[in-house]
Amino acid sequence: MDSEVRDYIDSVYDTVVRRNPNEAEFHQAVQEFFESMEPVIAKHPEYRKHAILERLVEPERLISFRVPWVDDQGQVQVNRGFRVQFNSTLGPYKGGIRFHPTVSASIIKFLGFEQIFKNALTGQPIGGGKGGSDFDPKGKSDMEIMRFTQSFMTELHKYLGPDTDVPAGDIGVGAREIGYMFGQYKRIRGGNEPGVLTGKGVGYGGSLGRTEATGYGCIYFVQEMLASRGLDLSGRRIVVSGSGNVSIFAIQKAQELGGIVVACSDSAGYIYDPQGIQLDTVKQIKLVDGGRISDYIDYHPGAVYRTGSTEIWTVPCEIALPCATQNELDEAAAQLLVANGLLAVGEGANMPCTLDAVHLLLSAGVLFGPAKAANAGGVAVSALEMAQNSMRLSWSFEEVDNKLKDIMANIYRSSLEAAEEYGFQGNLVAGSNIAGFKKVANAMIAQGV
Ligand code: GLU
Repeated sequence: MDSEVRDYIDSVYDTVVRRNPNEAEFHQAVQEFFESMEPVIAKHPEYRKHAILERLVEPERLISFRVPWVDDQGQVQVNRGFRVQFNSTLGPYKGGIRFHPTVSASIIKFLGFEQIFKNALTGQPIGGGKGGSDFDPKGKSDMEIMRFTQSFMTELHKYLGPDTDVPAGDIGVGAREIGYMFGQYKRIRGGNEPGVLTGKGVGYGGSLGRTEATGYGCIYFVQEMLASRGLDLSGRRIVVSGSGNVSIFAIQKAQELGGIVVACSDSAGYIYDPQGIQLDTVKQIKLVDGGRISDYIDYHPGAVYRTGSTEIWTVPCEIALPCATQNELDEAAAQLLVANGLLAVGEGANMPCTLDAVHLLLSAGVLFGPAKAANAGGVAVSALEMAQNSMRLSWSFEEVDNKLKDIMANIYRSSLEAAEEYGFQGNLVAGSNIAGFKKVANAMIAQGV
């Protein structure tokens, strides 16, 4: 290994830590990414000359703002909002909005940083961004959600536009919140710019297949990985953490392809159903009733409920799909999964495995689909939604789904090839980092400083 190059990369990392104190998640995302960069920087001195790494780790801008709103008791509340416009080299900033009490500058920066490379991998013309608030939607009334979301957009709209910055959903932000944001944007700005947000309702500019895209895309990616060993999903025991939008549609596609999903979860605990999870019940509980996953056992007494947000990884499976949140699967969980016969992991959430867990899974020979690649289906179909909005037409579900399949297969191939080329045979973590990086880096050089 080239120790001079290693020292250079370490010095850029040290600057990130110094400039962004107490931002553990952001440091983690950069560290994971930098672990793949040594052979790339060694082979291409132009990246160093143009300070590509130094420029990539510094967001173009980070917007932080106050979000005042009135609760149902007439009390004024204040939350904090963020939008990181990380990198616009390949197109308008693109990335979701997260509403969750854990949201901080560190969380938004780690997500925005990952988004740059994920978006590049899709092959679509989109840059990297992310936003959110520490607002907790749990237990809030529909009117509280609307007032908060409108206030959030009252400030955020200044920085958005269909060719500037295009948010979408993430944890805590679905079609309802996107609808309220879109309405508020239109009220303030006038005119009709459907391409300013994605994940809209299908009745007013949304794309068919966007709701399913992240979950379906994750399964298409896992299919590609399994096929490389002559395997498929049929009859495989699968565990999917979470029970939100990503999990539900990962479960749906996995079941359609013959997989047996035996467990899913929410932040309080998990359900285990040896017969296979009844997805209609999960949809009823989570999408209609707004209930907890523990309600499942009222419908299916043969199932078991256990508390604990990460206990789900004690359930033996061949395929693990962490689709809940960051750092939900640690080294100990990974070790147990491997001992229980794990074959493949597809990261449906962003950075759900800790760095130690990733290292362990890779060295155990588990097929590992990193988030940047495996969950890129959501943002890929967001870009297809933007394209449809620009053309003022809409594609059928099949058309979108076929494009999604092609995009996921391309991401798999380009990640695998980049891994081969730079000496990381079969390591899709390194491969996806490098394939995404090179697209952005080459375009940055072409566009000057
Ligand atoms: N929040 C999703 C992600 O993490 C989707 C972003 C988008 O569609 O813009 O990629």
